[in-house]
Amino acid sequence: MTRFVFITGGVVSSLGKGIASAALGALLQARGYAVRMRKLDPYLNVDPGTMSPYQHGEVYVTDDGAETDLDLGHYERFTGVAATHFDNATTGRIYSEVIARERRGDYLGATVQVIPHITDAIKDVVLRDTDDVDFVLVEIGGTVGDIESLPFLEAIRQLGNELGHDRAMFVHLTLVPYIPSAGELKTKPTQHSVKELLNVGIQPQMLLCRCDRPIPANERRKIALFCNVRTEAVIPALDVDTIYAVPIRYHEEGMDREVLRHFGLPFDTEPDLSRWQRIVEIVRAPEGEVRIAVVGKYTNLLDSYKSLAEALAHGGIANRVRVKLDWVDSEIFERPGTVERLEDVHGILVPGGFGERGTEGKIEAVRFARERKLPFFGICFGMQMAVIESARHLAGMPDASSTEFGPCDTAVVGLLTEWVRGNRRETREEGGDLGGTMRLGAYPAVLAEGSLVRSLYGGEPVISERHRHRYEVNVNFKDKLEATGMRFSGMSPDGVLPEIIELPKHPWFVGVQYHPELKSKPFAPHPLFAGFIAAAVRQARLV
Ligand code: GLN
Repeated sequence: MTRFVFITGGVVSSLGKGIASAALGALLQARGYAVRMRKLDPYLNVDPGTMSPYQHGEVYVTDDGAETDLDLGHYERFTGVAATHFDNATTGRIYSEVIARERRGDYLGATVQVIPHITDAIKDVVLRDTDDVDFVLVEIGGTVGDIESLPFLEAIRQLGNELGHDRAMFVHLTLVPYIPSAGELKTKPTQHSVKELLNVGIQPQMLLCRCDRPIPANERRKIALFCNVRTEAVIPALDVDTIYAVPIRYHEEGMDREVLRHFGLPFDTEPDLSRWQRIVEIVRAPEGEVRIAVVGKYTNLLDSYKSLAEALAHGGIANRVRVKLDWVDSEIFERPGTVERLEDVHGILVPGGFGERGTEGKIEAVRFARERKLPFFGICFGMQMAVIESARHLAGMPDASSTEFGPCDTAVVGLLTEWVRGNRRETREEGGDLGGTMRLGAYPAVLAEGSLVRSLYGGEPVISERHRHRYEVNVNFKDKLEATGMRFSGMSPDGVLPEIIELPKHPWFVGVQYHPELKSKPFAPHPLFAGFIAAAVRQARLV
């Protein structure tokens, strides 16, 4: 029997609902249950793929090629369960599906309405493909009281009624602020937020109360009394020093116990949290520290590189060191003499990105890493910049560039209009739609024997990684670039698309066309991040 836990948020946004949901997923898993995690997002974009990272943070890509909310990254990192395109739906997607059905005439002359047509479509999304798991955790984006979330709240209200108490539970995340002038914690915002939920017919059975200090028993009782929740189900959710301590902390506060109690499941045994304990121990007592410069564009909104920052931390866990990140806007390197500020870092990473702004600075950073023999990791756009750098400075092609920045004579990076996926050919046209039309999702790469990457991947000859890009290194320049010492050590199985480049004569210089950060887990750090940080540790010992 599949049970559903619906997680809503109140009072303010940014309370960490995604991590709280992911932590509950991890706790249920640690008790032996199979979980699936979903997110419903109330905005009108069909998916976040077309949104600026400044607006919405990172776009997380699934194996099956969906561009999704970054919370799905938290879900995967905490549970290890690979998300699919079923696991994230937006208002935009729901409406476009309903309108497409209406145009086909599927509604047989009915007046198409929010209730029941939109709410039915939402319920379908929640229930779809869930028979094989014990728990489905469904997070509703936004904050209760927003106009946008109403159809979602109505749909989960109906589901609560249809599934019944023993198959559905509502968890509400709120804020209990401390007011310094009164010297008190305030429960009123929580009471109001629960009232908002009651207005739409939802009575939560658990409250997760974010707070910056312990909530006294008294205040918990008060919240329970006013909000119709058991006192034990008012769970204090205090700030922790590392997000990977959240499952342990919530367990100590009784979160998983109360969920199991709600569903009438046994809760007297202890979950196995040893993997989280191990991670937290390493994070809290590292044996050293390395500094990595991340040279990118969206460096003042760290959410836009969420998975990257996490994967670098995982690389640190693998090497028992703390990874200190120095976020640098690449544009500053376009002024002469500035790139030297990278002198005292132990590794340079150029992450994914779009558009021309700041690219010359990125190329400067690549050049610095190559010439100074500093560990270098180029991801997606970062690999493209590394190829352009070698083409310009080593292969005698001073005007080498990417067609992403306009027409150019030496397009070592060019628009990808045709590629093979499994046994299907995918084609795109110049000037076509931007949404959902990149090379997206998992594709295999064949690794060259004797290469650094092949040894990092444990000798595997073929790997699978997630992609999200429109442009591609042009294989016609392969021979010329390889003559300079660059090695194309990973290629698509048909040998047409360069997936990985490395510089064998350099201590550690790797560029990948895909996004390895999307598959890294704290308990299974990605081999490329583990290898990159290991190289940074060696570099740190040198200096
Ligand atoms: N802008 C580049 C492309 O579309 C790289 C994309 C990325 O880094 N994700 O190919």
